Amino acid sequence: MAHNRSDIQRHAERAVPDQAAEILMAGRVAHVAFTEDGQPFAIPFGYQFDSSEPRLLYLHGSHASRALAIAASGAPLCITVTLLDGLVYSKTAMNHSINYRSVVCFGRGAEVTDSDHQQRVYEAMIKRYFPGRTQGRDFAPPSSAQLEGTRLVEVVIDDWSAKAREGGPTGPLDLDEQSPGTCGVMPI
Ligand SMILES: Cc1cc2nc3c(=O)[nH]c(=O)nc-3n(C[C@H](O)[C@H](O)[C@H](O)COP(=O)(O)OP(=O)(O)OC[C@H]3O[C@@H](n4cnc5c(N)ncnc54)[C@H](O)[C@@H]3O)c2cc1C
Repeated sequence: MAHNRSDIQRHAERAVPDQAAEILMAGRVAHVAFTEDGQPFAIPFGYQFDSSEPRLLYLHGSHASRALAIAASGAPLCITVTLLDGLVYSKTAMNHSINYRSVVCFGRGAEVTDSDHQQRVYEAMIKRYFPGRTQGRDFAPPSSAQLEGTRLVEVVIDDWSAKAREGGPTGPLDLDEQSPGTCGVMPI
């Protein structure tokens, strides 16, 4: 049977679709994947996401950025954001694991050229990365020249999936206090 591209196949019980927006709000780095002439690339970016507009994700950077130009072109994108929550250690090698929350988004981008829109996104992005910092008090807004010198791309997310692992190790010896070895979770 054909699957949708955002259906989680492995460990489907770890699907957390209701947490997708929360994870994107908490994330810091988005890996933006695209293909160019059949070659896949996955390039790290800062990004903006606001759960009040849960289908939009913003990327910005230099007009010289190849990745950003492709993102603005409407080409299909796959954007992944990952939060690391803990390192899971087990009494058996193959049951070492990682606690995580992650979102995979599929969508397409277009350049934002309206300066009011650009200002709103940059101000909100700084607030998200640096809560408590206020434009006009702690820092000056971008000038027209700075806005023109920066490319802002709005990605419309067509579909997404969210997946999380939580809890301790699940190896065959991990619940047996008498068995040799150590196990637990190291928070990150
Ligand atoms: C945490 C983080 C946040 C970032 N945020 C932004 C952002 O908000 N805006 C922005 O414009 N850029 C950002 N960057 C830089 C971004 O990853 C790209 O380097 C940049 O956008 C140039 O892209 P490009 O496709 O033009 O690079 P090109 O130089 O054309 O890419 C050519 C090759 O260089 C290599 N390369 C490119 N970037 C990287 C990289 N980061 N690490 C290792 N190899 C690389 C790859 O092999 C790639 O195929 C960020 C990087 C990091 C790590």
